[in-house]
Amino acid sequence: MIKLTQINKSFGRQQVLKGIDLTVKKGEVVAILGPSGSGKTTLLRCINYLERPGSGEISIDDFTVNCRNPSKADIHKLRQKTAMVFQQYNLFRHKTALENVMEGLLIVKKLPKEEARRISVEHLEKVGLGNKLDAYPSQLSGGQQQRVGIARALALNPDVILFDEPTSALDPELVGEVLAVIRKIAKEGITMIIVTHEMGFAQDVANHVVFMDGGVVVEEGSPQDIFSSPKEERTRQFLKRIT
Ligand code: ADP
Repeated sequence: MIKLTQINKSFGRQQVLKGIDLTVKKGEVVAILGPSGSGKTTLLRCINYLERPGSGEISIDDFTVNCRNPSKADIHKLRQKTAMVFQQYNLFRHKTALENVMEGLLIVKKLPKEEARRISVEHLEKVGLGNKLDAYPSQLSGGQQQRVGIARALALNPDVILFDEPTSALDPELVGEVLAVIRKIAKEGITMIIVTHEMGFAQDVANHVVFMDGGVVVEEGSPQDIFSSPKEERTRQFLKRIT
């Protein structure tokens, strides 16, 4: 349902993505692993045009964007179909948890206020924050703030949720609660692409694992393939270093 074809991206002279092809099926959870600087975050950000690829194609279902000359409408549509969960949560500081989740529903989806509120409450309850609707980000732990970020993404009912290292800013004791929420929504069949350094989590939540290095996909396969019998030396070295 999501198909990336030959995605290229450079920052100045540095080519960060070198012809990435990736297919993600509906309901699949894909983990993207790889050393720091390999282009994982940039790839994720290209999927919803937070970064503009230099060339390539992005398809979601039967909708295709040619990245060389996308129209504004194409980019808008792509953003409607995707939602991002950021490393640093990216919540509005002056809005409550509820208002943070409602924002996209009011502004992007243009829903009536009551409906936006109902959907937002439902999703905050789903991530275990039904009792924190009126709390401001500063009154929430990092784990709770990230759960608001996840509720915000879920509430938009996107075709795919893109997670950019969702636990890397958290204190170790708060990582578990966020991974538990992601695990729960993965079971509901929501398509997800997750950039993560949590190998254990990738191994047991992902259906498909992609290993990137130096702006290319070095190897991909089932968690079993990648973690138990990686074919490429670069994958083996990485796993040896990190586990
Ligand atoms: P990863 O997520 O695998 O750590 P990134 O996608 O963040 O890798 O970065 C890949 C490369 O692109 C790095 O060398 C990084 O310094 C560079 N890079 C990322 N974002 C920018 C940017 N906005 N401007 C210039 N260089 C960037």
